[in-house]
Amino acid sequence: MARYCGAVCRVCRRENLKLFLKGDRCYSDKCAFDRRGYAPGEHGQRRRGKTSDYGIQLREKQKVKRMYGLSEKQFHLFFGRADHQKGITGTNLLVSLERRFDNVVYRLGLVNSRTQGRHFVRHNHFLVNGKKVNIPSYLLNVGDVIEVREKSKKIQAISDSMDAVVRRGIPQWLDLEKENLKGTVKGFPVREDITMPIQEQLIVELYSK
Ligand code: SF4
Repeated sequence: MARYCGAVCRVCRRENLKLFLKGDRCYSDKCAFDRRGYAPGEHGQRRRGKTSDYGIQLREKQKVKRMYGLSEKQFHLFFGRADHQKGITGTNLLVSLERRFDNVVYRLGLVNSRTQGRHFVRHNHFLVNGKKVNIPSYLLNVGDVIEVREKSKKIQAISDSMDAVVRRGIPQWLDLEKENLKGTVKGFPVREDITMPIQEQLIVELYSK
């Protein structure tokens, strides 16, 4: 199945959680989830019925997949890699999703959403260790330095995101030099750094069926 391209606020309402997919708007009183916190569609206001175990696991997977803006195939690929690594599969999965280039530029506040991050990465607005990298799924390593290309520093969306980053905060595994529009990966994230309410074990159970 391809990546979801419809109205993103419907996704938050469907998953019954703010997923922060629309940058600044998510923190404003225009947030659709705050205004209409029920499922989208004609029957959205009906009481949510009892969900089967499979349904709960499926929703958890959909939530994480949509949060990081991945297609089913890409998500499954990430899961497969996490499953082959040492350690806890669920944690491995979340850590590798966090290490994605489009996520890191979002976490650093250089863009205001992962969607914008993916777009800007594809358009060569960033450098990794001084070299052009335009692959949103590129996994960053400890010590990697990410910077905005000189000619892209004037882009208004980047300055606006920098202004808004104070509200979101920078995770402790990243370091930002705001004045130089440059960030460094200080270390890999640990489970506690991922503060969204995610029960990754449910995803592992789903894929283990
Ligand atoms: Fe979700 Fe943001 Fe839309 Fe609110 S504004 S519903 S948090 S995407």
